[in-house]
Amino acid sequence: MEDTYRHKGLRKQLVDGLRQKGIRDEAILGAIGKIPRHCFLDRAFEEWAYQDVPFPIGAEQTISQPYTVAFQTWLLEVKKGDKVMEIGTGSGYQACVLAEMGAKVYTIERQESLFQKTNKLLEQLGYQRIRTFLGDGSLGLPRFAPYDGILVTAGAPEIPKPLLNQLKVGGRLVIPVGRADFQEMLVVHKRSAHKFETERFGHFRFVPFLGGVEKKRKKD
Ligand code: SAH
Repeated sequence: MEDTYRHKGLRKQLVDGLRQKGIRDEAILGAIGKIPRHCFLDRAFEEWAYQDVPFPIGAEQTISQPYTVAFQTWLLEVKKGDKVMEIGTGSGYQACVLAEMGAKVYTIERQESLFQKTNKLLEQLGYQRIRTFLGDGSLGLPRFAPYDGILVTAGAPEIPKPLLNQLKVGGRLVIPVGRADFQEMLVVHKRSAHKFETERFGHFRFVPFLGGVEKKRKKD
């Protein structure tokens, strides 16, 4: 999909809007200003790509609202070279923001149809260095642990233990925790092997965090 001057203009407006809403980190704003968000939505919804709203991406999932992407990225305190694991690849947009911040990104999706669609898109956009996995994110990815940061982009009923184990000491887990339709954003800092501290950052609405892997249906 083409990235036109019009798209670039709309993107600049989106970035200005995020700045007004309190996002001040220039690296995050730079990433959002660079990534062609319209490519992550179906063509029919191109017009919506630069509004600060979440949007359906198929398979009953949504691409998070840009403000939420920016806010979670800020909470994660990503530095160049950090190893970051994302749970809930979805459209791949958040993973691209993390990659633009200089992180080494490992991202997991439980729905095969989304996993395949997003793999193709990431390749087309030149983000092959993002490593994608089909699996249940509540188990994490022990093979590549420990991580400087772990970001969960679905609303979890509780914190999955394996994620805490796979964090580096000094690292942090950003996770919305609560009911299926309403969660509190938590940042869990790993202070030592068994010592964790939790900070709370207000309420959000994410699609639910679900267990297991969902295989591709024939009609997809
Ligand atoms: N980060 C995404 C937004 C994803 S919406 C983006 O930028 O577009 C949340 C995603 O989490 C959905 O695609 C959903 O299928 C996935 N998900 C939910 N529970 C999961 C789990 N246990 N493991 C991996 N992915 C999960």
